[in-house]
Amino acid sequence: MTVFASGPPLPQSGPVTGYPAGAPIPGRSLRFRIETWGCQMNVHDSEKMAAALSSLGCRPAETEPAEVVVLNTCSVREKAQEKVFARVEQLVGRGGERPRLIGVAGCVAQQEGEAIFGRAPAVDFVLGTQSLVCLPDIVRRLLEGETRVVEIGRHPDNLDIPPEQIDRIPGVKAYITIMEGCDNFCSFCVVPFTRGRERCRNVSSIVREAESLAASGFQEVQLLGQNVNSYRDPEDGRDFAELTDAVGAVPGIRRIRFTSPHPKDFSDALMERFAAGGPLMPHMHLPAQSGSTTVLERMRRGYSRGEFLELVGRARDKAPELALSTDLIVGFCGETRREFEDTLTLLDEVRFSSVYSFKYSERPHTLASKRLPDDVPDPEKTHRLVALQARQREIQLALHRDLVGREVEVLIEGPSRKGGQLAGRGPDNRIVNFDGPVEATGSFGEVRITGFGPNSLLGEPVSSLTPRRLSGSPAGPPANPSDWGAAIPLPVVQAAIRGREASPSV
Ligand code: SF4
Repeated sequence: MTVFASGPPLPQSGPVTGYPAGAPIPGRSLRFRIETWGCQMNVHDSEKMAAALSSLGCRPAETEPAEVVVLNTCSVREKAQEKVFARVEQLVGRGGERPRLIGVAGCVAQQEGEAIFGRAPAVDFVLGTQSLVCLPDIVRRLLEGETRVVEIGRHPDNLDIPPEQIDRIPGVKAYITIMEGCDNFCSFCVVPFTRGRERCRNVSSIVREAESLAASGFQEVQLLGQNVNSYRDPEDGRDFAELTDAVGAVPGIRRIRFTSPHPKDFSDALMERFAAGGPLMPHMHLPAQSGSTTVLERMRRGYSRGEFLELVGRARDKAPELALSTDLIVGFCGETRREFEDTLTLLDEVRFSSVYSFKYSERPHTLASKRLPDDVPDPEKTHRLVALQARQREIQLALHRDLVGREVEVLIEGPSRKGGQLAGRGPDNRIVNFDGPVEATGSFGEVRITGFGPNSLLGEPVSSLTPRRLSGSPAGPPANPSDWGAAIPLPVVQAAIRGREASPSV
């Protein structure tokens, strides 16, 4: 499990305006740790919780034991959910020295609520996805003697937490929540039950956050939402394409990415933005979920295989350099061998730049759990997953082979995961590892691709790399790309990483 301990506390100490206030603050000297599972939205929520705890005077634990531990959970897969309870047992099982407070936050908290105490009696508080702003008050109440607090209500101000109340992971790129929740109710998905219905921030507030990030030295922003291309400004109706224009106009923001769009809501206007170039990077994570029209119908995805392929074709006509990654589920209810083959051939036709692949697991409250039997045996699901990953691995190797000799602009994120080199991302979001001074972290460099593996590229700088000081990011060691979610234990299995060719850091 990857643990994210946030960076040093924000410059301001004491209560942050906007959080419930009151003196004295009993948590002033406590050390905290937030452990994060799941998607970028969860990683970003942990940044908000870190600031909320810092506002009480708590500080992040470094190597020493933490007195407040928050488990920010994911319930998209059953396995991820079970890990949370195992982790609570671990925390209380250490020779009787348990943390003073243990909290469960995130999607499992929202989904299970008070029932968590029954399953894990050592838990002190349960904090839902729409209640992050309540965290300081909950901690204060517990430290003052209250026991077992649950807060899973919807707090409107949770969506628009001011940028100064977010303790961002040091690095070169930052997340901005543009909307929360989802109205789609795909039959397999628990998100509408854990994140609620769609709610959007307005463009002006998002732009203010982007300006604040640019002023702090961040050059890349990732716009987050469960279904970003259904975004609408609640006041003036501007859509997602117009939002990318507004964020792209912020001086200092050189790269914009987003996750995740829904294929059925993809607009021509957004395609035009990709075609025009500019700060919108030529990569998109476009979840397909299956390559079979009949499975897509059972999933209630709102598009057929043909419509998905037509969308990909149109996008690539407009923006030939556009790299597409995706999510795929194998072994969904009633998936026949033939239907699975349709997913394999989708890989061949689209040639995704990367794939997050899952074995289907039934989730509570969903339509599938109520109406569709989870009837593909687990060994068969595993067999299909392995076959899918093997096919995708070959595709990625072939795509990467074609990139050798190209020069790409890389935003340098810090030391490569295996050390000894730098790692950065090209416009297409592929990881490139190359030699260079760590002081170049945060700068852009031109790199020629010289080698490849299935999951990353190897390169050499074509000119000297310029050291850059990350003005706004909290001081500390250069950012490791894994801090940004890549190494967060997503409830997914990425394409296999064995058998690399030239890259030492795949
Ligand atoms: S669009 Fe995405 S978040 Fe919404 S229900 Fe479907 S899979 Fe879940």
